[in-house]
Amino acid sequence: MLSRLVLAVALSVAVVSAQNQRPRKVFISVDMEGISGVVDPAQLGPDGFEYQRAREWMTGEVNAAIAGIRASGPADIVICDSHGNGQSLLIDKVADDVRIVRGFPRPLEMMQGLDDSFAAAMFIGYHASEWTPDAVRGHTISSARLLGVRLNGNEVSEGIYNAALAGHFNVPIAFVSGDRLAVTQIQKAVPGVEGVIVKEPYGYHSAQTVTPARGQAMIREGVARAMGKLGSLQPFRVTTPIALEVGFKLTIDAERAAFVPGLSRADAHVVKGTFRDMPEITKLLQVLTSFAAP
Ligand SMILES: [Zn+2]
Repeated sequence: MLSRLVLAVALSVAVVSAQNQRPRKVFISVDMEGISGVVDPAQLGPDGFEYQRAREWMTGEVNAAIAGIRASGPADIVICDSHGNGQSLLIDKVADDVRIVRGFPRPLEMMQGLDDSFAAAMFIGYHASEWTPDAVRGHTISSARLLGVRLNGNEVSEGIYNAALAGHFNVPIAFVSGDRLAVTQIQKAVPGVEGVIVKEPYGYHSAQTVTPARGQAMIREGVARAMGKLGSLQPFRVTTPIALEVGFKLTIDAERAAFVPGLSRADAHVVKGTFRDMPEITKLLQVLTSFAAP
């Protein structure tokens, strides 16, 4: 009798949790600096001698993530191509039943296409923030223009920033891959994120890396582990309204940014202001990083 009661309770809990589960929709934002083998501009842009190969490595890691997601069943997947010109992924080599976001600008930048229908978001090929010493290509949003971004007083990496943007839509972050500093930085700020470290960084342009094939195998396994934790993950939300501080490498950019209503000068390089939510800040930051060189 007791065991039948326990079974009945267990079944009703299972039914309730199944009803509470979102459809298996997974969002993948992919950057390039944290891909296996990538260490410097030779891999990062159309003028680099190894860019075409790096695009293959990046596409391989995205396909590995897709395989890891689908190891536990079918899923709707949107890939957000989020490096450089937003057109690095070799789209004819990606599994053919996903959709891909390409090109900039776009309102949600590295998270365009995300909404509250997704069960989780994942980050592939991510890098650490501007103020992280010795990380491969450590920067935040613009390596050329910005000197770091703070949300409510905390310096953020793109991973932490995009976790907060996903949190606006109540979507948790399940997985991140990149160099050791990129992965540990986001795991410290956003508990529960499964991580795969594909590089041990030595500095801005040097790392000891796994091979692309090994990185892809690690990502497939790590993403499969992450899918097993989906039900227990919480969205990462920042308190609103959000205090934003943006540093600029050039003081003339800070000077011009302070002309924007809602922004004022904190010091020679930094402007600050308080804004409603992450989508509003994401649109603003794209404008602030698009000034013409003085
Ligand atoms: Zn980036």
